[in-house]
Amino acid sequence: MSYRLYIPGPITVSEETLRAMTQPMIGHRSKDFVALYQSIQPGLQRLMETADPVYLSTSSSWGIMEGALRNTVAKKVLCCMNGAFSDKWLDVAQRCGIAAHGLRFDWGKPVDPETVRTELATGQYDAITFIHSETSTGTLSPLESIMAVVREFPEVISIVDTVSSFSTLPIAKDANGMDVLITGSQKALALPPGLSLLSVSERARQRAASHPGRGYYFDFLEFHANHEKGMTPSTPAISLIYALQHKLVQIDNEGIANRYARHLRLNEKIRLWGRARGFSLFPEEEYGARGLNCFSNTLNVDLEAVNKSLKTRFQCVIDGGYGKLKGKTFRISNMGDETDETIGALIGALDTVFGELGA
Ligand SMILES: *Cc1c(COP(=O)(O)O)cnc(C)c1O
Repeated sequence: MSYRLYIPGPITVSEETLRAMTQPMIGHRSKDFVALYQSIQPGLQRLMETADPVYLSTSSSWGIMEGALRNTVAKKVLCCMNGAFSDKWLDVAQRCGIAAHGLRFDWGKPVDPETVRTELATGQYDAITFIHSETSTGTLSPLESIMAVVREFPEVISIVDTVSSFSTLPIAKDANGMDVLITGSQKALALPPGLSLLSVSERARQRAASHPGRGYYFDFLEFHANHEKGMTPSTPAISLIYALQHKLVQIDNEGIANRYARHLRLNEKIRLWGRARGFSLFPEEEYGARGLNCFSNTLNVDLEAVNKSLKTRFQCVIDGGYGKLKGKTFRISNMGDETDETIGALIGALDTVFGELGA
């Protein structure tokens, strides 16, 4: 049975994208691969607003999130925590044996730049991690203000997770001086899982060069040396790269500005629907994510019953809350290929199902 995924990742992959993946296999050291690899660089650099290379990693995003720590932290990393994914980053650093401190904000609150400044000013840190769009709570942190603070500390390498915001709204890597920008295939790019993308500044590469213990699979220097030849360090998920190539052409055809406008419009459409039904947004309104909405389950609806009904009668699912917010919040994605039509259909289905459950 196939059903449409309105969960915040993985999301629905279009037939067209799936077809792009069925192209014949090529050798990863062949000219054909080099052409494929090089063909996607300009599109990725445009989306990241960067002149730095964009490396492709055959892993989920956590692979390069861990890798980024192992490449850049010599002293201590400050991990900004405001939800399940950002909280996990502290745990990951510690498991790698890296000195780390967690800067905690309440779930649903954005990362506060002033608090970041106070902590970085202690001089203990040479790296910082934060999540642009904390997917577990649907909270967008003010990337530009945080980066303005980080830039005051030239020894601090910034590692920014844009997994659920990338390609839903402008993210200017170079203008903001972001060092390591990380994203994954299965969120707003609407590709199957398995590929992650990272763009690394020269500064961060220099840090890596003087830093032992980078390992092999996620070594920035390996990525870079192979990038120069139009390749990846090891055999990549070539089918996913075909899908990415197809997706970038689609994005170009739609126009990046039109894409951002579409995500804003659909995001607001769902937000208005939720409000009208009596649900409040889980994060503070002005910090709501752009690729999804996370609502508090203020009406105490049985979310498992909602999804069961959505799935069997309307062939779609939403998310019933992540981690400690399970049952207390629900999340709806508007990432990827969603249109006014598909979001309209979802809202119709939600009205029916919530109505029947007395909400
Ligand atoms: C989904 C997500 C991740 C985890 O990505 P994986 O691809 O499962 O490793 C990390 N950070 C954020 C913000 C996410 O939304």
